[in-house]
Amino acid sequence: MSDTIRHSTVGYLCPACGGGVLSVVGIEALEGELLKLRCDCGKSEMLIRRQQSKIVLDVPCVICGGTHQFTYDRQMFLEKQDIRMSCPYTNAGIAAKGEQNLVKAALAEDELNVLKLMEEAGVSSLDAFHTDFRAEGDCKDPVRLNEILFVLKDMDEAGDIRCRCRDGEGGPFSVQVRDESVSVSCERCGASREIFVDYSPATESFLSADKITLS
Ligand SMILES: [Zn+2]
Ligand SMILES: [Zn+2]
Ligand SMILES: [Zn+2]
Repeated sequence: MSDTIRHSTVGYLCPACGGGVLSVVGIEALEGELLKLRCDCGKSEMLIRRQQSKIVLDVPCVICGGTHQFTYDRQMFLEKQDIRMSCPYTNAGIAAKGEQNLVKAALAEDELNVLKLMEEAGVSSLDAFHTDFRAEGDCKDPVRLNEILFVLKDMDEAGDIRCRCRDGEGGPFSVQVRDESVSVSCERCGASREIFVDYSPATESFLSADKITLS
């Protein structure tokens, strides 16, 4: 195994102080059950957990102030040297994993982007930026929303969203976030389905299903 794989860098931007938090992690550390990366300011931390053949990351988000979960195949996560993680609401980059210089460059780029977004929003502190984001954000439960978006993305990538189109011909699928629900629809045939951002049995069963059918 090459040295770049034995040691790679994980980093994110702290939502509290805006600073980049970087750590070189050896493969042994990633083999452990839990790894924490904490910002020097003490107000945020990123968790990297091992779950069987997966690696799950809880990443504090400098954009919306929430926490986003990212899941990767363990082997792929260990080997890939240019992983970028972004806020699902804005697609803005918030974290990276890989070769040290790439991660540094990615975070520098993300930091500039945050400054640009803050300027556009007319705010001067991250705190005000997050408050602004929550006020403008469409959804009341960002954590639940994130779970739903994540499952949808997974299903989309795996070809597990079925619609009225013939097998394999559906899509592209668009996702619209509303006040209390997420609507997914096939841009080709117009079939759609609404998933409520709540803890109802319907939403629970969607989250544990491996495919979804639009009607
Ligand atoms: Zn910090
Ligand atoms: Zn976010
Ligand atoms: Zn379709």
